[in-house]
Amino acid sequence: MNIILLGPPGAGKGTQAHRMVEHHGMRQLSTGDMLRAAVKAQTPVGQKAKAVMDRGELVSDDIVSELIDAELTALAPETGVIFDGYPRTQAQAEQLDGLLAKHGRCLTRVIELGVDEDALVERITGRFSCAECGTLYHDMANPPKTDGVCDQCGSTEFKRRPDDNEETVRTRMQEYRAKTQPILPHYEAQDLVARVDGMASIEDVSHAIDALLT
Ligand code: AMP
Repeated sequence: MNIILLGPPGAGKGTQAHRMVEHHGMRQLSTGDMLRAAVKAQTPVGQKAKAVMDRGELVSDDIVSELIDAELTALAPETGVIFDGYPRTQAQAEQLDGLLAKHGRCLTRVIELGVDEDALVERITGRFSCAECGTLYHDMANPPKTDGVCDQCGSTEFKRRPDDNEETVRTRMQEYRAKTQPILPHYEAQDLVARVDGMASIEDVSHAIDALLT
């Protein structure tokens, strides 16, 4: 299975991708996570990407497609992939077509998480993750069971993304509307697109996605 998860920032792509990894033994390929790791490690890619990411704009198509190519090269062909936050432009969608062909993979589904944009800012500015294992939380909607302790690994260290502030979120939404939504017809033409209500509970969204994958 090779799935694309599409949706504006805060739609729940990362949360659902984590669940699909757990339930279906798939691999999550998040270009956002890869870029954040590159920024942290201060690699040449990270140094180039940092300012762009801090503004909420999109990093160059070639950079992200090269990151995806490297990951697919390292992956066993039978391992299913969830593309999380990629592709985000028409050029990336075309580059992904080439990469899938190169690595002998076919797309199974493109799942778009639909959300009410007014709720997104609140969702995004409340989110944080475990600094150790990356489990995602939200101040209101999904806090750890014990305050200040990660449910998964027991760590007491948490972090917030520097681009999860209101101003940057608005730019990221504009980028989604202007550059990412227009790639949907590319996949609609192949009858691959399914829409899931991303405003439902995490459990319900997860069930809706599972139903699409069986
Ligand atoms: P995300 O974690 O998916 O919200 O991505 C965080 C930031 O990384 C975005 O706002 C972009 O600056 C950059 N980014 C992640 N994925 C891509 C992509 N496919 N194309 C361009 N920029 C990306």
